[in-house]
Order: sequence, then structure tokens, then C-alpha cells
Amino acid sequence: MSEISRRDVTLGAASAYAAFGLDKPITFVDAAHARQSVTHPFRKYRVGDIEIFSLIDGLRDVPLREGMVRNVSVEQVKTVLRGAGFPDNQAPLRFIVMALKLRDQVVLIDSGTGGHPIYGEGNGRLFESMAAAGLDPKAVKTILISHLHGDHIYGLMNNESDAQVFPDADIVVPAAELKWWTRPGVESIDLGPTRKGLAQRIRATLATWKNVRTFEGEPELLPGVHAVQAPGHSPGMVAHLVTSGGEQFLISADVVNLAPHISTNPEWQLAIDQDPQRAVETRRKIFDRAVADKLTISGTHWLMPNVGTLAKDGSRYVFVAEG
Ligand SMILES: [Zn+2]
Repeated sequence: MSEISRRDVTLGAASAYAAFGLDKPITFVDAAHARQSVTHPFRKYRVGDIEIFSLIDGLRDVPLREGMVRNVSVEQVKTVLRGAGFPDNQAPLRFIVMALKLRDQVVLIDSGTGGHPIYGEGNGRLFESMAAAGLDPKAVKTILISHLHGDHIYGLMNNESDAQVFPDADIVVPAAELKWWTRPGVESIDLGPTRKGLAQRIRATLATWKNVRTFEGEPELLPGVHAVQAPGHSPGMVAHLVTSGGEQFLISADVVNLAPHISTNPEWQLAIDQDPQRAVETRRKIFDRAVADKLTISGTHWLMPNVGTLAKDGSRYVFVAEG
């Protein structure tokens, strides 16, 4: 199924961190993975006659702290990280936008961080990665949004003016998500530092834009692309199931933020999930379906390659990356 890109630009460590706009080297204990992100700005897959792209928007290593996983001690998280060969002081997080090529139409699934400073330096590389993949932003006719957190929608708007980046594209948003983020009083709920000002910004942008349409349930949003309900991380989040030629590919958004290369323990309640218990239920349901239906699955914040398959191992899951 995979069609690996031949575009292997080899960068040394020095140019790697320069390329990310960092003024000092990122920790190269994570070298293999950090370099992978830099040397592969995109990866390309195929499902029937639909091409699917993983496009790097950025990366961020989040310092570990107690409470990050609510029902597991930070020591246990560190043990898992060490066991997987990673530094045990930070969780590696990637920002990856998925794109589809449906005949001559380019479809984005979410829009990345838009380089918003809240997500740290060096993010907002979506257009560079699209260029590397041969995708023209002007060919984007539809943008399917999984949920309304800033790292998925800030790429739709200018950081200063909020002006639309894709004024001519159809933006397709889960109705429950737009309703939740625009309900009275939501801006006064503390949802953590990266969600400060988010509700107000949604109200000033997506809630008023004429090219936004909403849907309920799990309709076919585009030929071969269905919404799949996946609430928990955000109240109205959806995943997107792409089907063509008897093959299925599930773009799972933020069903789990911690890279499954490290651990796919579905019971871990991540503090970043708005409803951690519901997120656990959704994770189990989606992952069980991925195993049963032999789906290829991707995640927004997984390490590159962020595409692979899942197998069941007792109550846990094992992720095997593809390509
Ligand atoms: Zn996210």
C-alpha cells in the first residue's frame, strides 16, 4: 500500500536544527526520530485510487511532569520512554497534517498550527511540506476538520489579522464541536495554556465564515471519506475513514496524542484530553476497530512515519509503522 517518497534530503544535525529555526540543537539523543522529521517533510501512501500524504507542520518535545497522565505516575511514564529508547525527560510530539489527492482535488485534514507562537518555535511548516510533496495550496478545495483545537485550525487563519488562508475552500466541521466552542460561557473555562483565547478566536472566525459547513453523525463527507465519531479529546472530535479499492485508512486525529511507537496503553488518561475517561473509551473502540478491520491508521501527533497498523497484545496495542 505504501509508496515511499524518494525525496530523501539528507541534512546533518546542524542544518537540521537550523531548518527548524531553533537557535540551539534539539536533543539528538532523539536523533533518529528528529532527523526523520526533517529529512522526510512528507510521506506518501495510496489507498485504492486515493493518494494520502503525511505532511510535517512542526514538532515539539513536551517536558514531562506529574499529572500529565492522570492515572499513571510520571516515573511509570519515564520507564516506558526509556524502555522505548527515548530520553525520559520529555514526550516527543509531532504536528502532522494529512492530505488527500482525489483526482485533481487536494483535501486537507486539519490545517496545522499556522506557526502560532503558543506551539513554540519552528512550527507552521505545512506549506513547505506541501511544496516538497508537489501539492499546491491553491488546489485545496476542501478542508475536513477533526476538532477545533488551535493546532488543528490556526493554519486556517492569519496569526495577526485572523484573515482566511483558504477563503475559497469548503471547510467542513463537526456540528457538535462548533456548538460546544461557541456556547455561552465556554471562554471562562480553563482548558490549559494552549487553549487560552481559543473559544474567542473560533467565535471571531469559523463561527462567522460563510465557507464553513457543519455535519452531524458519520456521513460520507466526500466520495470515499466518512466521518467517524471520536469524542473525548475534544467534545465533538471526529476521525476520517478513507475507503477506496477495498482498502481502508483511518486518519485518527488525536485519539491518542502520545506516540504509539512509545506506548499504546489505551487506559492512560491524558490530561490534555478534555474528557479523559471518554477519550479512553473512544481509543479502545477505534483501536479495536482498527485491529478487527485491519485498518491502516495515522495520528496527528505521532512520530514519523505516523502511519501503520495496530495489533492487540493483551489489553494493550502494538503499533507497527509503515514505510
Ligand atoms: Zn492536536
